[in-house]
Amino acid sequence: MQRNGGQRGRNTPIIFVLGGGIASGAAILALLFSILRTVAPGDDAVAAMLAPRIVDIAILTGVLVLLVTGMCLHALRPATGSGGHVRRLFRQADRAAAPTQPARGIGDDDVTDAARAGRQQLDAEIRCGLINGEFDVAYQPICHATTHEVEAVEALVRWPRRPDGELGPDAFIGAADSSGIIHRLGLFVLQRACSDMADLEAVRLHVNISPVQFRHPEFEAQVQSILDETGFPAHRLELEITERHILENAERARAVIMSLAARGIGFALDDFGAGVSGIGHLQRFGLRRVKIDRALVATIGSDPQAGALLTGAISIAHALSLSVVAEGVETEDQEKLLRLVGCDLLQGYRFGRPAYFGDIAGRLGGAANDRQVAAQA
Ligand code: C2E
Ligand code: CA
Ligand code: CA
Repeated sequence: MQRNGGQRGRNTPIIFVLGGGIASGAAILALLFSILRTVAPGDDAVAAMLAPRIVDIAILTGVLVLLVTGMCLHALRPATGSGGHVRRLFRQADRAAAPTQPARGIGDDDVTDAARAGRQQLDAEIRCGLINGEFDVAYQPICHATTHEVEAVEALVRWPRRPDGELGPDAFIGAADSSGIIHRLGLFVLQRACSDMADLEAVRLHVNISPVQFRHPEFEAQVQSILDETGFPAHRLELEITERHILENAERARAVIMSLAARGIGFALDDFGAGVSGIGHLQRFGLRRVKIDRALVATIGSDPQAGALLTGAISIAHALSLSVVAEGVETEDQEKLLRLVGCDLLQGYRFGRPAYFGDIAGRLGGAANDRQVAAQA
């Protein structure tokens, strides 16, 4: 059932998906009920009928998806017309409902011979690059939404000394992931970042972890040995993972998170809102933070419904004791809106572009000193 009435924007359909059995607290149900009334005004009967059956809320950029249970799937499927977009959404939702299904490789169906050869070439280049010291790490500040104090940095890999010219991570992380070299590349980033940031007390360090790294049986031991070697305290480390990490092998993901969280390491859910993102079914994974994807942030000024959706998602995150970071914040208007809807932390060009350690250490050192002085006062 796809509902297009009320004041909802044309680009913000609401889709109900039959999903499987996650209990939600009464407070969350009440909140969802109020969201339903916002997006389906004047339709209280539908809202009243659906609210108790909602088991999760998910946001696809510009689309609010409520996972409901106990109803006939056919009756709830949206009318055709949204085409591949909606079919893709359902495939992802089905996968979300059955997280133990074996995962396929990244884009296995679509990889042509030429693309495969390109990836192999990149893999060979990355291997050489690691040996030749071609990689570096840049850091982007993550700031308190109100005080603008730098609370953390996100480590982002860079390849400035590639002989054929620098490539951005979006151009090579996929290849590194599919070949497995991401293990070594990821450990290089973690090692370098922990070593750079070890002395900057009071600044947390966020590091992106690829799903392949995360599934590696030695992953926990490797993280621990880098912490031991660099003297970086576990409680200042936060690993950024995506929903894919969790859905591809829920049991393994839970075990890794629990084991590292017991040592003090935090986990942030990256790219929230970039695909089908459900908060409710993630609550049992012991996450500390949710990062709102920059594509979703980019819509908030232009799509009035996006603000309502974000408010709902942030309220649910807070109800689950999760802190919320918005990334990709570029303008003052975005900053104001994100603060208004309750984001705790903000990251984006407005607060600083990713920079090499030598260029950012002074700013971070100043922030850390200010915090220490404030704490001692
Ligand atoms: P991400 O984890 O979502 O990282 C944020 C990306 O957004 C970074 O791109 C950052 O430079 C960019 N960004 C930050 N603020 C703004 C803004 O205000 N506007 C715009 N337009 N962009 C902004 P970057 O560094 O190119 O990295 C792209 C992606 O590559 C990352 O997305 C992450 O998924 C991956 N990546 C980067 N470093 C690593 C790494 O060390 N390990 C792994 N596994 N993945 C990495
Ligand atoms: Ca990230
Ligand atoms: Ca992200």
